[in-house]
Amino acid sequence: MAKHTVKVGISGKYGTRYGSSLSSASELKSASTLAIPDSAFCGTNTVRRVSFGIWKCHGQGCTKILSGAYMLATPAAATATSTLRRPRDIASTQVGRA
Ligand SMILES: [Zn+2]
Repeated sequence: MAKHTVKVGISGKYGTRYGSSLSSASELKSASTLAIPDSAFCGTNTVRRVSFGIWKCHGQGCTKILSGAYMLATPAAATATSTLRRPRDIASTQVGRA
């Protein structure tokens, strides 16, 4: 049997169909849904994707998380979190000084 290069990963199930850019996009989605992310609220890795942007944590104390469509932690979410944290830190330091 002839050797061939394999770099398609999980999207290899689609064969040569649908194009390489869609294959890589599909791989990204599949990889992120297969990898179980850690819950930022209870620390367990029991978060599963329910539907578009809705994640459910089966750990104790938390149920549903709204986040990225196919990824629990998105770069945009990280940016928003750090932007929100900044004024809060400033406010807390001002309260501390008063
Ligand atoms: Zn949780």
